[in-house]
Amino acid sequence: MKKIAVFPGSFDPITLGHESIVRRCLPLFDEIVIGIGYNSNKHYFFSQDRREHFIRQTFADASNIRVERYSGLTVDFCKSIGANYILRGLRTSADYEFERAIAQMNRALHPGVDTIFVVADPHLSHISSTIVRDILLYQGDVSQFVPKSVTL
Ligand code: ADP
Repeated sequence: MKKIAVFPGSFDPITLGHESIVRRCLPLFDEIVIGIGYNSNKHYFFSQDRREHFIRQTFADASNIRVERYSGLTVDFCKSIGANYILRGLRTSADYEFERAIAQMNRALHPGVDTIFVVADPHLSHISSTIVRDILLYQGDVSQFVPKSVTL
């Protein structure tokens, strides 16, 4: 059976923190699917098309990474593509507390799906899409936080 993991998120936009988590986990799985979640209550800075384009360009060199959009529950998306693992990055203890509950609820919903937590690289743990968006809003330079593919 193929070992498939989903790395879910909004990626608004993808950052070097996201990229690092995916690349570090590549040796663990046959395939990593980057799932761009859609939440109708959320207002996004970049359109879905642009977010997807940034991610595809970032991983253009990697054949075992797929990019897909989904709406609804992440565990349902996992089931639909035969993925048994969800990847999440942990930057802070706040991330952990938030993620722990979601991981446990997800496991209650679908016992076949496990969440794997990867601790952020120290030199990237301050990076967040939220702050990148704030900087972009005022035309600031975000080049040290995001892959080259991300442009306004
Ligand atoms: P969400 O919309 O679910 O918050 P994000 O797109 O912000 O998703 O992030 C997706 C995943 O990437 C989350 O697990 C988050 O903790 C992780 N992540 C975000 N920034 C970093 C970073 N700088 N280093 C490591 N992991 C990160």
